[in-house]
Amino acid sequence: MRTIVYSARSYDRRFLEEAAAASDEPHELTFVDHNLDVHSAPAADEHDAVCAFVNDDVSAAVLEALADRGVRAVAMRCAGFNNVDLDAAARLGMTVARVPAYSPYAVAEHTVALMLALNRRIPRAAARVREGNFSLDGLLGFDLRSRRVGVVGTGRIGMIVARILRGFGCSLRAYDPYPSDDVRDLGVRYVDLDTLLGECDVVTLHCPLTPDTHHLLDADAFERMKPGAMLVNTSRGGLVDAPALIGALKSGQLGSVALDVYEEEGDLFFEDLSDTIIDDDVFARLLTFPNVLITAHQAFFTAEALRAIASTTIGNLTAVARGERSGTELTPPAGG
Ligand code: NAD
Repeated sequence: MRTIVYSARSYDRRFLEEAAAASDEPHELTFVDHNLDVHSAPAADEHDAVCAFVNDDVSAAVLEALADRGVRAVAMRCAGFNNVDLDAAARLGMTVARVPAYSPYAVAEHTVALMLALNRRIPRAAARVREGNFSLDGLLGFDLRSRRVGVVGTGRIGMIVARILRGFGCSLRAYDPYPSDDVRDLGVRYVDLDTLLGECDVVTLHCPLTPDTHHLLDADAFERMKPGAMLVNTSRGGLVDAPALIGALKSGQLGSVALDVYEEEGDLFFEDLSDTIIDDDVFARLLTFPNVLITAHQAFFTAEALRAIASTTIGNLTAVARGERSGTELTPPAGG
């Protein structure tokens, strides 16, 4: 099985090579550091499969270019698949598989880390202390205990976030079109989205990006939020309308924001751009707020998660090589 791995970083190589070595199916892996798009698709010549990540372009045009070169499978080494045209893949007879679950604890723990660091202004405080400035002005936080936290999407990650925050003594609300009894058993009360937005001091997003959830939080939604609330998004950038977010921060309607994802992150994240000019003015504006904390899509980035991602990805590729199903294959949505 010959697979070309796009957007490959040193850690992808390490964990995928380890998983391939542990497989009883022979795998030949080619690693390229550039993203998958129409320009880089020709590099997939003489490969059976491509392995792609969150910001690769897996649109119809790219899939057609890959199919023309004999590629018959796409192994997404992530959970989200909003960047894949599943209709085109089905039309071209290509298998698309993903990693539905891999240490949801990694993402949940990073979510809570952002919440705490933002609330207690840890990056600012640490930078100050390093400069010999021991003043506390501007570092005032709040007790999370008894605060109302709203979890939007109570699947694998949202449920763990709820479980961790229950330990902090938070009062938990949730919105999910498919409520879970396990989550209710944690003492979480399901409410509709408007009630959650209106009541909660902290809102954290854990639902997938779909046409229905695109810009779930837009200018109207920010208006409906409790004034001064904190927003945390470790799910997908497209859930939040970033220009509207800037408006809500400027007016003071939003108290603080932590992001691990950004709608236009494809041109920025996972690269060292420290020597270049960032020409995304919306992102650059977000960086100027003292009450905004941004990490570059690193919530998944733990050794446990990378090991699980690599193992499932190699399992998915093994299934393709053997003409079997791994159970993680994606099909177009009904009617899609
Ligand atoms: P999951 O499928 O287990 O849970 C998603 C939940 O969202 C489900 O319970 C579903 O019913 C709910 N949902 C669907 N539509 C909704 C809506 N309109 N409003 C509210 N809830 C809705 O997924 P998961 O494993 O918990 O992952 C959640 C998201 O986290 C993924 O979709 C992915 O985008 C993101 N993610 C981010 C990272 C990262 O590194 N930042 C890593 C992994 C996953």
